[in-house]
Amino acid sequence: MKKSTRFITAFISLAIAISSFSGCDFNEEVPAIGSEESLSQSESSSLPEISEPEITEPVPEPSVTLSSTEVSRGSFFMIRVENADLSDYSFVDFMDYEREFIATDGGWVCFVPVKMDTHPKSYDLSFRIGDFEYSEKITVTDRNINKQYLTVAPSTLEETLEDDAVRAAFNDFFQKYRWYETGVKFWEGEFVLPLGDYVYKETTPYGTFREFSNGATEWHNATDMAAKGGTPIYATNSGVILFADYLGLTGNTVIINHGMGVMSWHYHMSKLDVETGDKVEKGELIGRVGTTGLSTGNHLHFGITVGGIFVDPMEMIGTEPDLDFWKEDAK
Ligand SMILES: [Zn+2]
Repeated sequence: MKKSTRFITAFISLAIAISSFSGCDFNEEVPAIGSEESLSQSESSSLPEISEPEITEPVPEPSVTLSSTEVSRGSFFMIRVENADLSDYSFVDFMDYEREFIATDGGWVCFVPVKMDTHPKSYDLSFRIGDFEYSEKITVTDRNINKQYLTVAPSTLEETLEDDAVRAAFNDFFQKYRWYETGVKFWEGEFVLPLGDYVYKETTPYGTFREFSNGATEWHNATDMAAKGGTPIYATNSGVILFADYLGLTGNTVIINHGMGVMSWHYHMSKLDVETGDKVEKGELIGRVGTTGLSTGNHLHFGITVGGIFVDPMEMIGTEPDLDFWKEDAK
């Protein structure tokens, strides 16, 4: 039964109930509602007694939309939930990540990143909201992996990778900032190249498996862009400077918080042109290319995290997370 019909029925019942019990001629004061004329006193007195009109609306089930059921490792997908209050809800059932839903456009969106080193196969996505259960298969697809052997001067290695205090300081820094999240969206439109129109060479793509000359290995989770020392570095999008300082491992370092769990990371800069807490507009100067920290030459190490996981930053350039993906079906 539709809400309006239900309401009218309830109202009529109420009118009948009041006129029956109060004894006053209520019908005359009720404006034309439905079949008012047919409600004679004799008919109304023969109806069962109704003390309180009951209006029980059916509780709508949460509705869930995914941006995709297929995602490449080093990328992300989004979940949209409507008809549910998720303000205290954490999403925990996909590859052990605990992710929060963010209120947007009358519903809730959750960004689900997939680590670069995830084994490509099908994974179960499932979550529960009260009595409502949702499950879906998500296929993680493969992507190209480069391998790289990097010779680093022993003195540089000693001051960086091989220095426990330097590594510990970086780990503290990383754990402190990677999960930082604001529900507000600061980015505006597409993300742009941080080196603008300046010439650069992509020396180490995202997802490269790297071995250092001391035998240490890592998944390179950002893109290295070699450029002349001093080349300007611009904000890839609008945001707030979450961190701007020197670290032993990454040299002069800047994190921009673009909001909704999206952040950009810049390492090895020669100079910082922003301070923690500054607001920056897309394209604004944040610093200069350099070779500070664990670096073998002038370059910008440019990374993007979504929900605390580094994803391919170059996939983000020229695009933005499509928060309206859920509207596609309605078109
Ligand atoms: Zn790098």
